[in-house]
Amino acid sequence: MRHFAFENFQTVRRLVFQKPGIRRFEISQGLHMAPASVSKYVDLLIKKEIVLETDTDRSRNVSLAMNPAWKTCLGVDVGAWKTRILRMDARGAFSLLEEIPTPEDPLLLAPALKRHERGVDGVGLAITAVIDPQKLRVELFANNRGWDGFALSALGLRSRLSLLSSGHAAATAEKSFGSLRDDRDAIHVNAGNGIQACVFIDGKAVAGANHAAGELGHVFASLEAGACSCGNVGCLENLATVPMLLGRLKKRMQAGELRGTLARLCENDAAKIDPARVNEAWEAGDPQVHAEILRTADAIASALSGLVNVLNPQAISLGGNLFAYFPRLTEAVRDSLLGKVLEPNARKLAIRLAAYPELGAAFGAALHAFERFLRDEPGGEDPPRRPAKNRSKGGSPS
Ligand SMILES: [Zn+2]
Repeated sequence: MRHFAFENFQTVRRLVFQKPGIRRFEISQGLHMAPASVSKYVDLLIKKEIVLETDTDRSRNVSLAMNPAWKTCLGVDVGAWKTRILRMDARGAFSLLEEIPTPEDPLLLAPALKRHERGVDGVGLAITAVIDPQKLRVELFANNRGWDGFALSALGLRSRLSLLSSGHAAATAEKSFGSLRDDRDAIHVNAGNGIQACVFIDGKAVAGANHAAGELGHVFASLEAGACSCGNVGCLENLATVPMLLGRLKKRMQAGELRGTLARLCENDAAKIDPARVNEAWEAGDPQVHAEILRTADAIASALSGLVNVLNPQAISLGGNLFAYFPRLTEAVRDSLLGKVLEPNARKLAIRLAAYPELGAAFGAALHAFERFLRDEPGGEDPPRRPAKNRSKGGSPS
């Protein structure tokens, strides 16, 4: 295929992936491409078994979707203490395969990944860390320093590997299929045990000069946050993560200060404090729990307010375990943030709960791995069949 023809082929393929059910005339309208050209590429995609016609009763206007069997990718979300492994087909349908504690030694993750690698074309890893996506290397994992400097090639996987930060991965899921799909200027926040964000400007994710953009957790939020593992003082991560919120409540219970619903639910045993009980106490109107949640919301809003004033985004989506456990925290962040930013910057600002608050990072990691096949997989004249699987032997970047 000549270069420009391959580009068109890729573009049509990507559009079918992004909009399952799309019809030929919609592709033609969306890409400003002549119907005859669209048909040429669609016919080729069908011939190669990359795309399928999903109904057959409307002649040239049948709806199209990816062949789910074209490629399969794993998405791996390496969090500060939990790692999730998910499998995604070419239609973007995914299922969670396994959830394991994140090992302190990254090499100990290899057996679980190898267990699920059969029949898989690509593996995407998302880590709540600063990473080098070109060298497939973890630069700085503030919550798990045993990973610093780790190169993914040491895992010994045979699939094509890709690496990105958890914030970027979760944002990719929201931008592709979730709560930000119609917003060009937007911010996604992923808060669990760590906090990362991803900024989209004019539809494109900002990676930064050194792939380190989005470290919202290490933005100054409040002096009361104290010293952070990164070496600074006042970082958001020291106030607004799941363990920080639970830790404050545990401390207060141990000091005998809690008297409301949470104390009753936990029978005054701090070891029984967990997200479900905290959320139940909050829903029941426990004022001390409410105050701690508002502190969390306020810290997130403080860190975000600078971004909103500087970038004037259309939308912010909030995801990660913190928002999966406490979905109503979204409203608390919204209320606090709208009071902190300039009125014109807030006028058109939508603040929403993410569509994938829990599995967004793993889903986004799989999408990132899949994106490389959409971009690179040749559409030459030969019959499709699966490409040679040994081209990324040893997991080295290709
Ligand atoms: Zn910090």
